[in-house]
Amino acid sequence: MKSLLLSLLIAVTLWADAHLFVYHRFGDSRYPTTNTTVEELRSQFEYFKNNGYKVVPLEKLISHLKTRKNIPNKWIVLTIDDNFKSFYTNGLALFKKYDYPFSIFVYVEATQKRYPDYLSWDELKEISKYGSIEFHSYAHKHMTYMSDEEIKEDFKKGLEVFSKELNIKPKVFTYPYGEYSPRVKEISKSFGFDAIINQNMGAVSGFSDIYDIDRTALVGKSNLKLYLRYKALNAFWKEPLVFPHNATLTSLHVETNESAKKGGVYITGHGWMKAALENGNFNIKLNKKLIKKRSRIVISIGNKISTKLLIKDKYGTR
Ligand SMILES: [Zn+2]
Repeated sequence: MKSLLLSLLIAVTLWADAHLFVYHRFGDSRYPTTNTTVEELRSQFEYFKNNGYKVVPLEKLISHLKTRKNIPNKWIVLTIDDNFKSFYTNGLALFKKYDYPFSIFVYVEATQKRYPDYLSWDELKEISKYGSIEFHSYAHKHMTYMSDEEIKEDFKKGLEVFSKELNIKPKVFTYPYGEYSPRVKEISKSFGFDAIINQNMGAVSGFSDIYDIDRTALVGKSNLKLYLRYKALNAFWKEPLVFPHNATLTSLHVETNESAKKGGVYITGHGWMKAALENGNFNIKLNKKLIKKRSRIVISIGNKISTKLLIKDKYGTR
């Protein structure tokens, strides 16, 4: 009886999930699809504060994932992609007011070449007193369209400038546009980051891949309460793993450690459909044309989800 209780307890704690979110611009109405208004940011922060959520530094989540420690259920990690000035002018004050840690991911070339909409190195140094500064590539290009050599060159150049200007070594990487393939992921991993974060909706649990951490965008019109309800599904994707031949998805094969008979499948451009499962496993024949070159397949069992990003890789599928 004791061991049953213990295993139930372990199961419950192992299922706990953290949620990572990504912002881009703040209070910048010129770009509504990548912007978060200051009012919206304040109401999200109030929601976290009033509902028992704990905003923790990204490195704390990573250290728990590394050591496979329990991840508490109400952890939130806040990240910002692209070093836009609007974070400094419109966002930072609220992060300071609520004492919420954050990680900002730098598109190095934009700061190095002093593009008008981007933060300076001095501003980034100032910001580093309140949050961590991480890496988001040198030239912010679509990496699945770059050769191995071009990707490696981008990392080398970006990391060199980053370390020289800020005197720190970034520990975490996010892909430009959230776009990657198995090949891009392998090359990125070879640069020794502690973790790599994608931009696929989901949650993070003890079993999550530290080099493929899900993160939900909180931009434009977003539904925070819905996003917080999602949990991570422990899923082993067998098929598809890469963008399919002729852009046609013919089969979906994913094993889970659930025992459900029913689930859901979402395909970009096609929406959600119901799926009959074989003892928690998705083994489905399909004939779906992928409408977009960048498509997401999401599988769900109850409120647990797992996402696979399928994107054309010009340089092969490994
Ligand atoms: Zn970006």
